[in-house]
Amino acid sequence: MKKKLIVIASILLLIPCLVVGASFFLKSADVAKVDKKTSKQEPPRQQAPKQASEHKIAYLTIDDGPTKYMSAIVAALKKENVKATFFLVGNNITGDRKQAVKEAAQAGNSIGMHSMTHDAKKLYKNGQFIPEMEQESTLLNSLLGKQIKLIRAPYGSTYLSAMQIKNAQEKKYRLLDWNIDSEDWRHKGKPQEIVTSIKEQLDKFHKISPVILVHETEDTLKAIPSLVKAIREKGFELMPYFEDNDFHLNFRKDPDL
Ligand SMILES: [Zn+2]
Repeated sequence: MKKKLIVIASILLLIPCLVVGASFFLKSADVAKVDKKTSKQEPPRQQAPKQASEHKIAYLTIDDGPTKYMSAIVAALKKENVKATFFLVGNNITGDRKQAVKEAAQAGNSIGMHSMTHDAKKLYKNGQFIPEMEQESTLLNSLLGKQIKLIRAPYGSTYLSAMQIKNAQEKKYRLLDWNIDSEDWRHKGKPQEIVTSIKEQLDKFHKISPVILVHETEDTLKAIPSLVKAIREKGFELMPYFEDNDFHLNFRKDPDL
């Protein structure tokens, strides 16, 4: 009788232990599941997160190509595992350079328009800004099979007339200016100075994303490895900028541009 009681008591004691043990096991299984789910939901690297304050994103924009350096710049970026945004002059997209533009797009870089002529008089005084962008958009579409809406206005969006702004908005163009000017023309032949200039300016950026302006030159090509290193050391991740990005940056401070 005593023995039977001991057995029953032991069983009774064992039940809570089993319950606690089972629930612990299930919980840890849940955690594992959540972990797996979270890692799956992480956005791929090339997708630009919405706010710089959350992720510290920087954009490297390379203007005035395609030049003879474009292919090498695309390869240098690839080697560093980063992507940039190229603002191209339509009249330069000829011959071999068409292939370079295709390669840049295929590698995940963003391609934007920078007018056909880059001629301030034609674009702003003679009102050719929108017609030139339309022409370039058609040209890029035939090359890349993609309707591109991203624009960098030569010399900045400051020069556009109210009518041109209105037309750009009607056409759903996105105008991206810049907030870090490398002044690479000033440091011609000295790529390390270009890197230093950008590095110093990066310290001012805590809340909004830096949009760095360089030009498609041999200096930029040479600067890429140390520039990427410097940007990473400042805690930024480089992303290409596409027209559907929620982050707007233009000198007119227009949220619809
Ligand atoms: Zn330019």
